[in-house]
Amino acid sequence: MNSSGLYPSRALISKSAFLHNLGALDAATASGMMPIVKANGYGHGRDIVTDWLLDAGVQWLGVAQIAEAQTLADRLEREGRLGEANILCWIYAPGSPFAQAIKSGIHISLGAPWAIAEVAAAAREAGVPAKVHIKVDTAMARGGFSMNQLADAVAQIAPLQAEGVFEVVGLWSHLARADEPECPLTAHQVELFEAARQITAPLHPQVLHLAASSGMLWHENTHYDLVRPGIALYGVSPNPEYRTALQMGLRAVMQLEADLIVVRDVPAGTGVSYGHTYVTEQPEHFAVVPIGYADGVLRSGSNRVKVWINGELCPSRGRICMDQFVVSAPGAHEGDLAVLFGDEAEGYLTANDWAAACGTVGYEVFTALGPRVHRIAVP
Ligand SMILES: *Cc1c(COP(=O)(O)O)cnc(C)c1O
Repeated sequence: MNSSGLYPSRALISKSAFLHNLGALDAATASGMMPIVKANGYGHGRDIVTDWLLDAGVQWLGVAQIAEAQTLADRLEREGRLGEANILCWIYAPGSPFAQAIKSGIHISLGAPWAIAEVAAAAREAGVPAKVHIKVDTAMARGGFSMNQLADAVAQIAPLQAEGVFEVVGLWSHLARADEPECPLTAHQVELFEAARQITAPLHPQVLHLAASSGMLWHENTHYDLVRPGIALYGVSPNPEYRTALQMGLRAVMQLEADLIVVRDVPAGTGVSYGHTYVTEQPEHFAVVPIGYADGVLRSGSNRVKVWINGELCPSRGRICMDQFVVSAPGAHEGDLAVLFGDEAEGYLTANDWAAACGTVGYEVFTALGPRVHRIAVP
């Protein structure tokens, strides 16, 4: 079965672009790397990119949810590769299957008093120490101990570490505005992180980590022992208004494309798609692109986005539907290739261009992509 031929749309995932970005980021820091592969590898296919990362010798992998960590660990265990990298997760609810995660060697972020108790109980049940990274909230007002909770947390964690219930591996936090290179908040967060380092010193965390892509790219003082790049690794800038991926020498890993299924010539006065939000003012040549909002092509891009067809950028006409949308594409034929986004250097729009047209960020453009979009690894 030619599985790719079954699907009218596909995301090509470029190994050479991914490894290029990994190398470029690695060269930009003296720190270790924890590539982030949450949310199905930012929509690129987690299995595809984690295998490339392990082959490249990466020693840390970050995912958000404990379920993502467990399914990743289970797969790596089946393939005899679980020992190759440490997996960190930080999103879980009370009652999560911590004991199983601990047995699989998954590193767990600790950032709330209830989590200390639950993870400790699970480690006792598992009979092996839980590897934990203490998370401190330095400006997100989100996950992590607040600065004024940290001393109490240390007092609770210290005896558990002495008992062998916890192995305190890391201390970490997350930057709120590192994508704004001039914003003084980042320096303030570094100060708070330094204070947290003093408070947690009795626990001797082995690795400190603070920076995601934008911290890594634009704030060298945030690198510490490990950096946690996500979006940059996939070849997309965390802030294209400041620097585009092309300007930074990063290459788009994903090319989202589809094969045109219908073309037609329409006269002036033709209403298009639901609600007729576009009506032609002159004759146009329409083409139907077989991918829609059920696949993650955001409906807010209706009448705003463009797709590349035969070297031309062809504008969306009318509302994007669940499975398809219409573009104005002079000269297009059925079966012609439509590229929604890809690498700027190849003449395509980028995921960030789509994000701008849809009023969102590149992150959402990627992670919205659904399971009907076949991910195909290409060299
Ligand atoms: C998603 C995430 C990252 C990666 O962020 P990018 O901006 O994509 O580099 C790093 N750390 C944490 C805690 C995250 O949630």
